[in-house]
Amino acid sequence: MLNVLFGIKNYVPYDCYETIFDIDYQKLYQSGKRVILIDIDNTIIPYDFDLPKEEHLKLISEIKKIGFQVIFLSNNHQERVKKIAQAFDVEAIYSACKPLKKGFRQALKLATFSSKKEVVTIGDQIMTDVLGSNRSGLEAILVKPIKRKNEKWYTKLNRKIENRIVRRMNKNYPEIVEKIRELRGEAVENKM
Ligand SMILES: [Mg+2]
Repeated sequence: MLNVLFGIKNYVPYDCYETIFDIDYQKLYQSGKRVILIDIDNTIIPYDFDLPKEEHLKLISEIKKIGFQVIFLSNNHQERVKKIAQAFDVEAIYSACKPLKKGFRQALKLATFSSKKEVVTIGDQIMTDVLGSNRSGLEAILVKPIKRKNEKWYTKLNRKIENRIVRRMNKNYPEIVEKIRELRGEAVENKM
């Protein structure tokens, strides 16, 4: 169960940040990105929030004002995803089955873009958000999960696999591993 199923490069995020509020969206736009596929749970709001707070609404609205098309891409069920997407006035794919390509394909159908280089994804899980993005040919930004406490058993299992994968990434991608570990507040082994 704890085996790495795909080549390690499939698990490597293109960048990582502490929260969605720390990302420089202007810079992303200047670099040519036009569409953001974003995870909901533990990326925008924690699992125990039914609705976003003012600060979340404001951020997504600001991102849209820059010129981005924002699409939510969530493995959670229709009722929760629809309710949250409506609050943000954003299109959404629910039951996305990340890391399968299915949900990403559905989201891209809603998107207006001329090259996959214009699309970036944001999520808090390497095993679903980052892996699915890379397999779909999309660059993924990893953020630190907002609140780990309410995670479901399968997400907890994914976190264990994630730790193993991050250790394995260290050989070929030490810079991104250092960044991930710094965000998590872990000691950086190769700096000893
Ligand atoms: Mg998530």
